[in-house]
Amino acid sequence: PYVIGAECIDTTDMSCVDECPVDCIYEGDRKLYINPKECIDCGACEPVCPVEAIAQDRRVSDENEPHIADNRRFFVEP
Ligand code: SF4
Repeated sequence: PYVIGAECIDTTDMSCVDECPVDCIYEGDRKLYINPKECIDCGACEPVCPVEAIAQDRRVSDENEPHIADNRRFFVEP
């Protein structure tokens, strides 16, 4: 799945939300999150992000590596 990194924090531009064909991008308190179980890996969200916060999990920068787990945690039922 695709993952949203630190660049999104306090940005939440929302352009990606409009692009996603399966509506799997959700709004948190300070950033957006991609549901890894719903993402179909289409890549449509990546080029529209103005702060380049989105990448496929296999290509995520070292700095954004923790966001893979963070994105997943966001969707775990309490
Ligand atoms: Fe949605 Fe496609 Fe981006 Fe996954 S890769 S979050 S399905 S737009």
